[in-house]
Parts: sequence; C-alpha cells; structure tokens
Amino acid sequence: PVRVRFCPSPTGNPHVGLVRTALFNWAYARHTGGTMVFRIEDTDAARDSEESYQQLLDSMRWLGLDWDEGPEIGGPHTPYRQSQRTDLYTDVAERLVAEGYAYPCYCTTEELDERREAARAAGRPSGYDGHCRDLTTERKAAYEAEGRSHIIRFRMPDETITFTDLVRGELTFQPENVPDYGIVRANGAPLYTLVNPVDDALMEITHVLRGEDLLSSTPRQVALYQALEKLGIAKQTPAFGHLPYVMGEGNKKLSKRDPQASLNLYRERGFLPEGLLNYLSLLGWSFSADQDVFTIPEMVAKFDIADVNANPARFDLKKAEAINADHIRMLDAAAFAEACAPWLVAPYAPWAPEDFDQAVFDTIAPYAQTRLTVLSDITANVDFLFLKEPVFDEASWTKAMKGDPLALLTTARENLQGADWGSAEALKEAVLKAGETHGLKLGKAQAPVRVAVTGRTVGLPLFESLQILGKDVSLARIDAAMA
Ligand code: GLU
Repeated sequence: PVRVRFCPSPTGNPHVGLVRTALFNWAYARHTGGTMVFRIEDTDAARDSEESYQQLLDSMRWLGLDWDEGPEIGGPHTPYRQSQRTDLYTDVAERLVAEGYAYPCYCTTEELDERREAARAAGRPSGYDGHCRDLTTERKAAYEAEGRSHIIRFRMPDETITFTDLVRGELTFQPENVPDYGIVRANGAPLYTLVNPVDDALMEITHVLRGEDLLSSTPRQVALYQALEKLGIAKQTPAFGHLPYVMGEGNKKLSKRDPQASLNLYRERGFLPEGLLNYLSLLGWSFSADQDVFTIPEMVAKFDIADVNANPARFDLKKAEAINADHIRMLDAAAFAEACAPWLVAPYAPWAPEDFDQAVFDTIAPYAQTRLTVLSDITANVDFLFLKEPVFDEASWTKAMKGDPLALLTTARENLQGADWGSAEALKEAVLKAGETHGLKLGKAQAPVRVAVTGRTVGLPLFESLQILGKDVSLARIDAAMA
C-alpha cells in the first residue's frame, strides 16, 4: 500500500511551492487509496516556531488536504513532531556508528576550510576528504584528550549510486560528488540528513514526492537507506519523485520570500481553496490537453506521479485568477454566499453590522457570482447596498461627472421617477432616453447615475442594482449628488 508524507519545517509562512508538494502527495495517496502522513520537521530550534506550526495545520485544513496520520490525529508512528523523537534518532545514530556505517569526525571548521581550499587549488573535488574515516582508537583518544568535539559523519559507499526518479527517470551519481556528510551535530543534535530518512523508514514511507531542490540530498539518503535496511530499521528504500521548480517573475525560481509565493496572500484575496489547488496542480502536471479547470475529486481520480513533467513550471498569476474565477462560477448559491461571508463582516465590511441584510445580499449575489475573480472583491461590489451613503471614490467621481452631469442627472432623475421600477429594462430605457436628450450614448449617460448611487464607475449591472437598492434610496442619492 502507498504511504506518502508531507513533512514541512515550521519556519515562516506557508508558500505555494510547499502547497504544491502537499497537494501532489495527498492526491497520490487519495488516488491510490493509500495513506497520507503529515510530519513536522521541527529539529531546528533556532528557526522553528509554534506560530508557524499552527499555521501549517490551519492551512492544510483550509485547503482541505486531510491527513491520515500526523499532528492532532496521531497514528501508529506517533509522535509526528520530530522535536519529540530525539531519542529515536540518537539510538539510530549510535547503531550506525557501532556497525561502521558512520563515524565520529573531529575535524575543526578551520581544518576543513583549509583542506577544501587546497583541494580546489589543486583541481580536486572539494567535498569532505574522508580524513576521519578510519581513525585508530589511539588517534580518537588523542583527539578527545585535546578537547576536540566531534560530529557524526555518514560513510558513503565508494560506489556509483543509481536510482530511478519517478519524474526524471534513471539518475546516477558518482561517489566523488557525494562525500561523507554530517548526520549529528557536535552538541548531539541530529540533523535533517539523518532524521528525515530515518523517519521515512520508521513510518514505512513508500513514495517520497518533494521539490527538485532536494534532489542533491537523495543519493545520500539512498545510501543511508541501504545501511538502515541492513540494520533492519528500514523495510525498503522508498521511490523518489522530484517535482519541478516553480519559476516566478523574470524566469527566476519562485522563492519562499517572494510575496507572490505566500499562501496567506491568496487566502486573504479570496481564492477558493479548490481554485488555488486546481491552479497549483498544473505546476508540473496537466489534467488533459484541452481542459485546465476541474474539481479536486476529478484531479484525484486522474492524478499519477508518472504524469508529472520534469520541466520547470511557470507561475502565472493571471491564469491562477482566471481559474479561481471559474471555480467561483461553479458554486451553488448557498456555497457562494458562504464563501463570501468572511468579506461581509469587519474588518473588511465598511458598513455597520446592523445595516447588513442577508435577503438583499442574496438578491444581488447572482450578479456578483458571474463577475468576481477573487472573493474579497465582493465587499466593494455590494457596499452601496448597506452603507447609508455610498463611498465616493474621487477619481470615479471626476471621471464620470465630466461635461455637464447636472443637466443629465436632472433628466435621468425625472425619467426614473416616472419609470416602472419592477423592470430593469424600463430603468435602462429611462437613462437611455435621458442620454438621448443630452446627446450622450448609454455608457456615458449611465456613468454619473452609477457614481451617484454606488460611488464607483464600475460595478454590478446598474439597473438591477438600482432595483435592489430601491426607488426611494436611489433617487435620494441622485438628489444628493446634484446638491
Ligand atoms: N523538512 C524538509 C523541508 O521542508 C522536507 C524535505 C523532504 O521532503 O524530504 O524542506
């Protein structure tokens, strides 16, 4: 059975690259009927934070990416936070040393730097040179007596490492390019290089799907797995699949620090989780040649790692927005209202809570649903209905009130006064006629009316908006604008 894992470190805010990794793992687990393990890699006390941990959990819940084992749920390999598993790692490190798969290294940073420089100057590989690989007991004792501390280093086998990447095919690494590497710090703290594969082994992970940035650590991990298998700690080496880089502006790798990369940004702008996930799934994968909008269950039904593309994917905000817009259209009325709800209250809504009227909102909602790109735009689209007076946007006002708006507004008001307010068509006719009287096309004629009533030059269909606002209020606003 498939067992995949999502194992972020709780540092900083979640970013879209991380979400793509979570999504592909989750989709693969759900597609295969496998298990999604959620593990927190919080072994770096200096950088990890509780706030970031909470945000990770909250983000996963918001996205609807559920897990079968992990924080708050538990499971057969509990605990799922690495900070609570130190004893396990220490134990494995000791066994690796006892069996000769790892060794204490006493080299100081200065010594390492010096030899690295010398190797570079001589044109030799500049990685760790194996200095402490085979120290005699006497030599070790002498180093200890000098008061040197030591790290633990994993002994890479002197052989070519080959594995078949699920995305990239067969990859081969030469031993001179993969030197022995540290797995435990001098202070006894185990490193990512150890704890990540050890946990994957203990948690019986079958498929490791992660970003391409981690590809260089894979040959080391494959070698460590071989040792863990011999020690009976790992049942098998998982299959690895490295997801392509995501490129941002200027064809540069999208970095975590790039504001465009922040998950919270999309959430605050009112992306639907399914819209965002739909878009992110296209970063390295495609649903079909002619369809890029689909539901998440549809994605799950089709998703296979074998179809992930190794080429870098380009992050395209416009496309993400367009796909999100499509998902907004797909909601039923109740789901749309529910999705809008956060933007209809403080701190987003500028109206007094008691002035909000759900029935009025429900009447205007269908017009908004066909137009919004992101849900946060709902506030500005409906605020004229719930504010005592519209918020006048200076620029809109100046733009719409060019020429002689007073004459036009006077006629429009008269016509509207006599119109049948049961018909949006009749209201349109009234404004059209007013335009004709003053030699203005409908577009030009309705602009001052729209600004007078809603405060803005753009918005939902004007005549339906007038109807929903009602005759009295609409006319009073035109009067106020003319005053
Ligand atoms: N904690 C690691 C990270 O966030 C996980 C790497 C992996 O998936 O192996 O980069």
